[in-house]
Amino acid sequence: MVELRNIRKSYGTLEVLKGIDLSVERGRIVSIIGPSGSGKSTLLRSVNMLEEVSAGEIWLDGTQVNQPLSGRAFERHINGIRQAMGMVFQQFNLFPHLTVHQNIMIGPMRLKGLSKDAARQRADELLAKVGLTGKGGSYPNRLSGGQKQRVAIARALAMQPKVMLFDEATSALDPELVDEVNLVMKQLAGEHMTMLIVTHEMRFAAEVSDHVLFMDGGVVVEQGTPDRVLANPTEDRTRAFLRKHL
Ligand code: ATP
Ligand code: MG
Repeated sequence: MVELRNIRKSYGTLEVLKGIDLSVERGRIVSIIGPSGSGKSTLLRSVNMLEEVSAGEIWLDGTQVNQPLSGRAFERHINGIRQAMGMVFQQFNLFPHLTVHQNIMIGPMRLKGLSKDAARQRADELLAKVGLTGKGGSYPNRLSGGQKQRVAIARALAMQPKVMLFDEATSALDPELVDEVNLVMKQLAGEHMTMLIVTHEMRFAAEVSDHVLFMDGGVVVEQGTPDRVLANPTEDRTRAFLRKHL
């Protein structure tokens, strides 16, 4: 479903990603862990073209994501890619001037040509799914962080993506709000949504992931099942990281 081949990314002379390979099959959940600055966000942002990689190939379902296109062709391509990959950020990124309903409906109406009624119906179904029935008329500033993040997930799902990308979706939340968001993510996992999750919550990663990738200094130090990487790491750098984070 998602394939990364020898991904490299530099900012000026700083090489942040130094050749990353990863293969994510349909329905699989991959967690990316590692110290601050190791390149986790850069990697995730590269997958859906929020960053342009310096070298390597990114594939989604048989289509190369990073292509040397320009102008209209590039716009069309990037829109397709963004629709196929839903992204959820640490800071919610909801439109503050739009209601919850409008936040969820705008993408399907503008980009997928859904009628207002159809978009509204889809929004209500998704609000029910994330436990926010009845909140459609609220503005984001009236919601808790956990509620905002669940709206952000509903908004991403409204585009019916092939893959969901989460970048520290719970790290801006008060501790008591983390579980309600994790629960929605677990529910998606149970429905076999393909997911790439950057997280610093090792317990959550262990519970939900099929595969864990430990990055440090722009390289993959170790990857494998949660049991392999989290419970029985073989690399010193992984052990040192886990001692601090478990
Ligand atoms: P954290 O756990 O703190 O979120 P991370 O693993 O997500 O860290 P990245 O945000 O991917 O790390 O950053 C990796 C490196 O790239 C860091 O050294 C960072 O300073 C650098 N970096 C990230 N974005 C840019 C940018 N736009 N310009 C220059 N350097 C950048
Ligand atoms: Mg980050």
